[in-house]
Amino acid sequence: MNSRFSRRDFLKTGVTVGAATFSGRGRDLLAGTGQGTTAPAGSPRVVSSGNGLRAAEKAMEILNKGGDPLEAVVAGVNIVEDDPNDMSVGYGGLPNEDGVVELDASVMDGPTHTSGAVASIRNIKNPSKVAKLVMERTTHCLLVGKGALKFALAHGFKKENLLTDKAREAWLRWKEALSDRDNWLPAQIKKLPEDLQPVMMTHGTINCIAIDAHGRLAGVTTTSGLSWKIPGRIGDSPIIGAGLYVDNAVGAAGSTGLGEANIRTCASFQVVNFMGQGMSPEQACLKALETIAGKAKLWPQALKLVDADGRPGFGLNFYALNKKGEFGGATMWSGAKYAVHDGRKNELRECAFLYKTKN
Ligand code: ASP
Repeated sequence: MNSRFSRRDFLKTGVTVGAATFSGRGRDLLAGTGQGTTAPAGSPRVVSSGNGLRAAEKAMEILNKGGDPLEAVVAGVNIVEDDPNDMSVGYGGLPNEDGVVELDASVMDGPTHTSGAVASIRNIKNPSKVAKLVMERTTHCLLVGKGALKFALAHGFKKENLLTDKAREAWLRWKEALSDRDNWLPAQIKKLPEDLQPVMMTHGTINCIAIDAHGRLAGVTTTSGLSWKIPGRIGDSPIIGAGLYVDNAVGAAGSTGLGEANIRTCASFQVVNFMGQGMSPEQACLKALETIAGKAKLWPQALKLVDADGRPGFGLNFYALNKKGEFGGATMWSGAKYAVHDGRKNELRECAFLYKTKN
């Protein structure tokens, strides 16, 4: 999901993670904890990022037929990877600084505690499927760049141009506006659609995690990563423990948002670890965000990761699901949503938050 936010304000009431309650939570506490309107414990659940409603629907359909949870979540995110209108994932994703789309993805299977991933892969629109094959058909965890492409081609994937006209125009506009000391003239292309106005740095991803009726957990995270990234930059999505982590004895967690902050803190691993210590999924997500906000203060100013008040100047979201089927989502700055199919309803819910975004 795209992360954009403007003026922010620290929620004065603060966030105390652990035994205490959180002030910065989304509107629906009961729903957020997986209680109340949800299907009984033991029923399948699917949790996804805010762009994941269709993915959650598809994954639940497969789980309800007794399908494998990893197959379910991958089939779910394939819908978004194939969609040119989601410019954060797969086909139509925003390119790197050379105008080339490079994709990252990972999968993790709870029952076997195995994972697979690809990073910086070009010309293949479903990197999540390739990541699954890395898990199933090799002894490795992660293939990158040309090696990943070669592996995909060997498995019959077809090379495709992933750069849509809309994404190319956004990239061109960014390139033309980069500097007044080069040979590109600004404002030579027609006005971009509203949703592409902020052609600064944007990012987005889809994460989808699920549990089936037998308690089998699985997850996937797939993305085109940070737009205009330096070619070869790899985000958190294909890094197990950062963009995704599943422990079948405890739960699953995934992330969207600034990958660098997540990689440096192994945060999805931390979320699962916190759930293992007894925290609810929502508490665990908030605790991970709090840890990251603390570390962000140490990061050099030049990285531009904190604002003037020492608060994180980036968006980051976590989604979590525990072994009991309870779920939660939390975001650094208020306003993000996540998708949940709780067995009865498939809907977007508000993420709990660490800092309140000013309107
Ligand atoms: N996490 C992704 C990355 O850093 C981007 C995002 O989710 O916004 O590549």
